[in-house]
Amino acid sequence: MELSVKNSAITSSITLATDTKAKKMKAQGLDVVGFGAGEPDFDTPAYIVEAAKEALEKGLTRYTPASGIPELKEAICEKLRKDNGLEYKQNQIIVSNGAKHSLYNAFEAILNPGDEVIIPAPYWLSYPEIVKIAGGIPVFVETREDNDFKIQIDDLKKVVTSKTKAIVINSPNNPNGCVYGFDELEAIAQLAVEKQIFIVSDEIYEVLVYDGLKHISIASLGKEIKDLTIVINGMSKAYAMTGWRIGYAAAHEDIVKVMSNIQSHTTSNPNSIAQYASLAALKGSGDEIKRMVDEFCRRRNFMVDRINSIPGLSCRLPKGAFYVMMNIKEIIGKSYKGQIIDGSLSFSDLLLDARMVTVVPGIAFGADNYVRLSYAVSMDNIEKGLDRIEEFISELDS
Ligand code: PMP
Ligand code: GLU
Repeated sequence: MELSVKNSAITSSITLATDTKAKKMKAQGLDVVGFGAGEPDFDTPAYIVEAAKEALEKGLTRYTPASGIPELKEAICEKLRKDNGLEYKQNQIIVSNGAKHSLYNAFEAILNPGDEVIIPAPYWLSYPEIVKIAGGIPVFVETREDNDFKIQIDDLKKVVTSKTKAIVINSPNNPNGCVYGFDELEAIAQLAVEKQIFIVSDEIYEVLVYDGLKHISIASLGKEIKDLTIVINGMSKAYAMTGWRIGYAAAHEDIVKVMSNIQSHTTSNPNSIAQYASLAALKGSGDEIKRMVDEFCRRRNFMVDRINSIPGLSCRLPKGAFYVMMNIKEIIGKSYKGQIIDGSLSFSDLLLDARMVTVVPGIAFGADNYVRLSYAVSMDNIEKGLDRIEEFISELDS
């Protein structure tokens, strides 16, 4: 039985698998602390849930236009205008089944076989796989912790070839929490305009920025870069709506048309109820977002200080999203009860077996000297989990 060679090589999502494992262990009554989750631990705000109930009661349960209801597209245009200084019309917006689906549609729309897509590493693990599904070739450009994991323009220039079709910019970043500033984005934008390269700008963590920073969309830097940029965003992180599955993209109408045609033959419209709930979310006051961000900031500060107090471990202060990249370089080569830690995978496995704490191995993000911890976890669990990590580290033999 011969299966698709291209798609048989696609890996499964380690982030989702880690999260599922922790949730399953918790359901079995085990006292597991899960730092794997890439989702807010808050419930979806009540006014959004109410809007969904209302949509159900009104019978808004039928097919909608495949690329999303006009009211929601209008609210997205308004959001992009207000928050990002971006002017889009409704035919430049497509609503999809989560930002992951928006990314898939985007790469399907722009890539031809053999086209290269530059992805800064460490990267969110789905980018390379989605690029490959869409027939492209992921090309990684390494970033360094002492540069806050931000891409350096000279390094970027070195990997651009005649086959480069797009560059992925994810700010605020998963997994490393970096947030790009104006000058850094401008240098990337200039290169993209000069070489006519698309930018896929994943802005799903937009609202999660700390220390007074402001998120900047690279598309807002000028008309030429806007025409080359596909802005990706969604409801999952900002509104604690991971399960509702609504994401969206904004781009030149020619790109959105191809994305919409693909969507019309694959999934049709995203869930109608979730679209009405998202409309209410975008029209809300944003008070819940502020409360959530303040709480994430408090947890981030605690987690970073606590990690840096454990001998052998370290991390930088991430400026956005809700993840910490914990540097385990000094731990590699040590052993736990005779079992050697030879990288992030064995570190994560042994930590789970020994202390019932889940983290995501950095190898999943192209960074084997790290593991990722999410602080979208209650403060009690953060304290408990880090105490356990400290105990685990103290039991290692050199
Ligand atoms: N981009 C990044 C960087 C993410 O971390 C996620 C997390 N799921 C997504 C996109 C997709 O989000 P969703 O499909 O839930 O909208
Ligand atoms: N994006 C989140 C994470 O990185 C959720 C899981 C996923 O979609 O990969 O953990």
